[in-house]
Amino acid sequence: MKPLKELTRPNVWRLKPYSSARDEYKGVSASVFLDANESPYNNPINRYPDPLQGEVKALLAQVKQVPAENIFLGNGSDEAIDLLFRAFCEPRIDNVVAIDPTYGMYQVCAEVNDVEYRKVLLDENYQFTADSLLAVADEHTKVIFLCSPNNPTGNDLCRDEIVKLLNTFDGLVVVDEAYIDFSDSPSFRFDLAKYPNIVVLQTFSKAWGSAAIRLGMAFASEEIIALFNKIKYPYNINILTQQQAISVLQRKEEVAAWVALLRQERARLADELLQLPLTEKIFPSQANFILARVADATAIYNYLVGQGIIVRNRHSVSLCGNCLRITIGTPEENNTLLNAMKEYKQ
Ligand SMILES: *Cc1c(COP(=O)(O)O)cnc(C)c1O
Repeated sequence: MKPLKELTRPNVWRLKPYSSARDEYKGVSASVFLDANESPYNNPINRYPDPLQGEVKALLAQVKQVPAENIFLGNGSDEAIDLLFRAFCEPRIDNVVAIDPTYGMYQVCAEVNDVEYRKVLLDENYQFTADSLLAVADEHTKVIFLCSPNNPTGNDLCRDEIVKLLNTFDGLVVVDEAYIDFSDSPSFRFDLAKYPNIVVLQTFSKAWGSAAIRLGMAFASEEIIALFNKIKYPYNINILTQQQAISVLQRKEEVAAWVALLRQERARLADELLQLPLTEKIFPSQANFILARVADATAIYNYLVGQGIIVRNRHSVSLCGNCLRITIGTPEENNTLLNAMKEYKQ
């Protein structure tokens, strides 16, 4: 890996961050707070939240077995994705490389930040090789985006190729693990010490059942986390979100039971969909959704909409012709879908 200073945009490296009232005072013994121009009324919503979310991170450090210094919290993973561009990619000069197909936000953030986005098509098994990504990278490639399990394909990316990329690419490698809780593979968050150039993304939006609170996690070296903290909005995670995150982290056994049930339903849904004449292929999934190739994705999508059932039509996505992406719901919801599909007349 190049020295972090060389990868970072010079303006960001030089930046002295905004210092908020709550940054300057960090004790616990005071009882009169007249430092931040808050209202003294409407407790507890009146106070600015902890800018570095110490309580949430202390709990997360235990749950995820990652030191708090290696954790960044953002307004969804989307904030961390955007900060990667803002911290490392000089508009119109630098570029990033990503697999195709994958999560759409990497490209949207690249375009918003005026950074070139280079795609490398996956193979017919939705796998990649480190060499194919390195072949399109150059001295201006700052970040490579991987997503495992991948969206919308559902499969884990080959671990050996991810490791090879981590060991050979001299910029940052992002491994988006939004769906890792549903996978049999271990997370890369345990390997931060081995790979100084890795940024692992996870989220409260999927397994943790908390998409509405908008909370994403990035796990990386202390130096990378410090850069994110330097350029983020001072109070990026509001107090309601912090409270809800603590609440759901304290119910992690309940969350584990949801995940176990969804994995079981994933296997059942895959089996039953495969019995239907309209199904051409069910791609193996390690996520909380199934990618299914069907006879006519757009016709079936429209039919399901008419039945009040919404799935995702991925027909126009690379390598996903005539594919529907179906999120695993409750057993009842999955039965409703299966019954509707059984009644579809080709
Ligand atoms: C759903 C999803 C996310 C979650 O994004 P949030 O902003 O945290 O809700 C991140 N990455 C991928 C690949 C996803 O599919």
